[in-house]
Amino acid sequence: MTAAVPSREGPAPVLRVEDLCVDYFTDAGRLRACDQVSFELGPGQRLGLVGESGSGKSTMALALMRMIKPPGKIAGRVFVGDDELTSMDDNAIRSARMRLIGMVPQAAMSALNPVIRIRAQIADVLQVHEPAMPDAQVKARIAEVLEAVELRPEVANLYPHELSGGMKQRVCIAIAVALRPKVIIADEPTSALDVIVQRQVMDTIGRLQREMNIAVILIGHDMGLMAQFVDRLSVMYAGKLAEIGPTGELFARPTHPYTHMLISSLPTLGKKGVFRGIPGITPSLLSLPSGCYFRTRCPYAMPICSEVTPAQQAHGTDHRSSCHLSNVEGGLTGRIAAEAASVPDARMGGFS
Ligand code: SF4
Repeated sequence: MTAAVPSREGPAPVLRVEDLCVDYFTDAGRLRACDQVSFELGPGQRLGLVGESGSGKSTMALALMRMIKPPGKIAGRVFVGDDELTSMDDNAIRSARMRLIGMVPQAAMSALNPVIRIRAQIADVLQVHEPAMPDAQVKARIAEVLEAVELRPEVANLYPHELSGGMKQRVCIAIAVALRPKVIIADEPTSALDVIVQRQVMDTIGRLQREMNIAVILIGHDMGLMAQFVDRLSVMYAGKLAEIGPTGELFARPTHPYTHMLISSLPTLGKKGVFRGIPGITPSLLSLPSGCYFRTRCPYAMPICSEVTPAQQAHGTDHRSSCHLSNVEGGLTGRIAAEAASVPDARMGGFS
């Protein structure tokens, strides 16, 4: 079990995730792609989920939707409001998807059926969940959701290949909000778009989130985008939640070296000095290091890090991380300050 989640002030959470695990049973052995992840999300909150490829972000998103297929297996509990998704039978979870929890997929082109008009693809979601809805109401609702994502009603008559990348992504957002779910997972919704369209798409998601009071989980790699869009940020590494907390607090005072290194690798216009990536690669989930999974890449690793898996520790009411530095005087902040003082030239040169 992970540490108890400290209570937050405010309304009851709309999403509650308790010790969520995803295991894949392969010929090479058991692989845990999501490892005892716990967090809560309030109504209308925006949570960012970052981490390198293979960190378990998309696996966790699929697990929240109960879309992990065999040989994958889910354990733990996921609640949307009072409804426990993890205990639902197949019919109940089919009804809950898109109605309680929706998803904006990563690749809009492959998410939309290329040989079916947009109208039919939106109608499909409405009619599966509300089969008694009259045709006129379906038609009106399609026009309404297209307008909500700033697309003309005539777009309903087109095929996906007749739309630009940004328009396709807007159609995916329209489908995700068509039934007004309480939670939306947006899995790298702007990854294939140019920066202008990225901004427009994120503005649309942000506006809909406010208007419908939907809680949003935004998955991505772009720490700059996260800094602008989300209220809270969570960082995953090798299937585990390394750190979670208010976005401003994580950027100002990260308590896990991986969070700190992700933030340090973010290029900024005013930043002068060496542009530093994170050395090494994420470990294979089939042969994880002992103790802390990040220790082979961590510049602050200590002897205990190879022996003991760090437990989650709270830093205030809504900030947690798993790092042995939390038990060392000065913590990560002290180590960063000591490092900067001992190698003043390390940040000179490089990109400016
Ligand atoms: Fe680094 Fe040790 Fe913290 Fe892991 S527990 S992140 S190896 S300092």
